[in-house]
Amino acid sequence: MRSAGFYVHIPFCRKKCSYCDFSSFTGDDALIHRYLKALFSEMQAHRGRKVETVYIGGGTPSVLKDRDLRGLFDTLGRLLKIEARAETSMECNPESVTPGRLRVLKECGVNRLSFGLQSADDRGLRMLGRIHSYGDFTAAYRQARKNGFDNISIDLMYGIPGQGLEEWKGSLRKALRWRPEHVSVYALTVEAGTEFSRRAVSVDGDLQADMYEWACDYLDGKGYRHYEISNFAFPGHECRHNMKYWRREPVFAVGLSAASFDGKSRVRNSSRLDEYLRLIRETGSAVVERERLSGAESVGERLMLALRTSDGIVRTPALWKTHGELFERFVREGCLIIRGDRVRPTRKGWLLSNQLFQELV
Ligand code: SF4
Repeated sequence: MRSAGFYVHIPFCRKKCSYCDFSSFTGDDALIHRYLKALFSEMQAHRGRKVETVYIGGGTPSVLKDRDLRGLFDTLGRLLKIEARAETSMECNPESVTPGRLRVLKECGVNRLSFGLQSADDRGLRMLGRIHSYGDFTAAYRQARKNGFDNISIDLMYGIPGQGLEEWKGSLRKALRWRPEHVSVYALTVEAGTEFSRRAVSVDGDLQADMYEWACDYLDGKGYRHYEISNFAFPGHECRHNMKYWRREPVFAVGLSAASFDGKSRVRNSSRLDEYLRLIRETGSAVVERERLSGAESVGERLMLALRTSDGIVRTPALWKTHGELFERFVREGCLIIRGDRVRPTRKGWLLSNQLFQELV
């Protein structure tokens, strides 16, 4: 059996961003230590698990102190069988990256950094409620390269209030001067419960579609392969961990609100910090939701995830029997193409992915 992926959620941030609806909190040292203790205890259930990707996400994992980061990676190394050529990623926010921190990450085996840049324009960063400046990012990026990190991803957001098409072009052009190996671009969405939703911020879908199309062309021209709706990479630098989600391969996860998939069923941890800590203390597990998909639901999920990627899905006789007519209609409408034995999405299909998935699943 193929090795799994392993995800660790660190839910702490120094400040809540205006658009953020993730499970993240500002925590003091005492709370962070209680959380890490619970996390290490939850990890015991994964002793001996073979993994080929490790992803530390959040929140802002880079807010952890060096000592805590070493503790986290020691525990992972002791409990899991991490393959020698594993991809080990960590999300970093520019303001919490120092040369010392980068050395620690290197020593701990981190070989892929994902920077939450979001905008290369300080006005955009302030609008999003981020606490870093573009200068913080460039300093962190330079230090990362100096410390030997040769697989760096940056996240950028488009459709930020006050950002027109020209500003977005400027932001992407500026960020790409650094030649990161991987770029993720996301449209701003206004989620319930966020600062933006309280301020009734609205987004312009047509403008966001133009921004997306321009970014796809620009990134393509710079040598990035568009391998998933929102993700672009130099060939060979696609995120192996995220590919596991899209290929519906097993990924085990620990921490607040973490979701694991073993290839058949999905389980989810509590997303309430007090409940997570109590459940781990009392039972060793914080699972509050279990889901086993029926055959038809699994096919639908596999299809939806596969069509997020440029690989698409294999056109098996069984799939053709249930979805052939729809596929043919979407091919006529320019949303899908059929090449050899695979059905693949087009750019138009990705742009209209919500409608496409709704009809296909
Ligand atoms: S840094 Fe990321 S996780 Fe933290 S508040 Fe901002 S968007 Fe949310």
